[in-house]
Amino acid sequence: MVENFELGDIVEMKKEHPCGEKNFEIIRVGADVKIKCTKCGRIIMIPRSKFQKGAKKLIGKV
Ligand SMILES: [Zn+2]
Repeated sequence: MVENFELGDIVEMKKEHPCGEKNFEIIRVGADVKIKCTKCGRIIMIPRSKFQKGAKKLIGKV
């Protein structure tokens, strides 16, 4: 679980994207969080609480 995060952070998610990548870039923060797969570039929007549970750890910044 990741409590604090901000725009531009790279996070490792517990569940990998269908393309096989686990690292995502945070591109919008609000009630929903938008993350972009760092491999295929697909964008996913998920509720903040779900994102926090699904995130494993912060990897770094863009
Ligand atoms: Zn992907």
